[in-house]
Amino acid sequence: MKDLLQQLRSAQVHTLLAQFTDIHGVAKGKYLPIEQLDQLLTEGAGFSGPSIAGTGLPRTGPRSEYWGRGIASTAQVLPWMPGYARIVCDGYVAGEPFDACPRQVLRRAEAQLAKQGWYLRTGIEPEFFLLRRDAQAGYLPFDARDGLDKPSYDLKTLPRQAGLLRELHKALASSGLEVLQIDHEDAQGQYELNFGHDLALRSADHLMLFKLAAQAIAEQHGAVFSMMPKPFANQPGSGMHFHVSMWRGEGEEAQCMFEDHPGQPAPGGAALMQHFIAGVLAHAGALCALAAPTVNSYKRLVVGESLSGTSWAPAYVAHGPNNRTALVRTLKGRFEWRLPDASANPYLATAGLIAAGLDGIQRRLAPPPACQDDLFELSLPALRQRGIALLPQSLDQALDALEADAVIGAALGEELRAQFLRLKRAEALAHARHVSDWELRQYAERY
Ligand code: GLU
Ligand code: MG
Ligand code: MG
Repeated sequence: MKDLLQQLRSAQVHTLLAQFTDIHGVAKGKYLPIEQLDQLLTEGAGFSGPSIAGTGLPRTGPRSEYWGRGIASTAQVLPWMPGYARIVCDGYVAGEPFDACPRQVLRRAEAQLAKQGWYLRTGIEPEFFLLRRDAQAGYLPFDARDGLDKPSYDLKTLPRQAGLLRELHKALASSGLEVLQIDHEDAQGQYELNFGHDLALRSADHLMLFKLAAQAIAEQHGAVFSMMPKPFANQPGSGMHFHVSMWRGEGEEAQCMFEDHPGQPAPGGAALMQHFIAGVLAHAGALCALAAPTVNSYKRLVVGESLSGTSWAPAYVAHGPNNRTALVRTLKGRFEWRLPDASANPYLATAGLIAAGLDGIQRRLAPPPACQDDLFELSLPALRQRGIALLPQSLDQALDALEADAVIGAALGEELRAQFLRLKRAEALAHARHVSDWELRQYAERY
């Protein structure tokens, strides 16, 4: 603790940002003077529990106080806010780890893996838009010239944002995040940034730091950073793919459990990855609720060709070797889980993924045959013939699947599960009741 205090003081830190993540995957927190470091790491910072989305905490009494207890190893100076350092907090209530804190949910899922001596590593690939507000249109790509040509990997538009992207990259790198690559994606104003693979909990913490950095730096450049899954109907949406591998041992001893090794203890190797994937496919419906958690998410997960052409977002429950049209793209020793979109809470999505994979392993589930086809080319009857199911087509359908899924429900824990269903059902209902401009244009004068 003393060391950390000294380190932060010598980095001219005067203020701590005690940060936690709410059920929606939104970063929350408060500022504390650096003198409060000891208090933050031992007891925590106090928050009004019922004011935080998804806690289900009462308005009065000792259980109304939500304590964000800082984790010393997560302390990072924020380069875009000189003098400030973020510390990630775990939720506590009445002195106990709080069941419905998303980070605690992921910790519990990791503890299940740890019972086997395993841990998960993830490499997260957020896609995002840089936008500007427009009085008429609402939002438009930040740079009006962006994507006038086919924008994927475009090198005419990318350099126009080089200043902003370089600043973001520098901020993340100096906060200890490994950025592997940055590119222009398929839609106007859309970019992607890939992170190096890390322990699942750390990857989720890093993703939250990325969101804070990107929001702040975009704003400093006059842009609006958006991880909305599908801002424009006629453009591809923003995914947040997870590259996933399972490991045992540390340092030199670390061994990838999804790769075959001579003399490997069973279960292990490519066969273990198959069971894990089978679990991920078996629980695909419920996982949608966690990994694609908004009504807007289902405008991304479209069947076949979208208005924008190929969207590269999955719509079917399938896996295949290097198959980017499938839900799970398999690679050597790892797989890419293409379901999550950019609005997913990274803690809850990862916890659901672990629970699904572990269930596949425990029940020794076999995945359906690997799919080599371009799924975007197959007709619905052809998919049906191959036994390939559709993903939920709406948030409501995904919530039905979550409600019926005891394995994913247990991983969330009763309080978080109940809160999640309550909030998300309300969101789905509000959307269903909303009369949109499209409806007015279609029907106002027709009848
Ligand atoms: N934007 C696509 C999605 O929503 C992914 C494109 C890619 O493969 O990078 O998942
Ligand atoms: Mg991409
Ligand atoms: Mg990807």
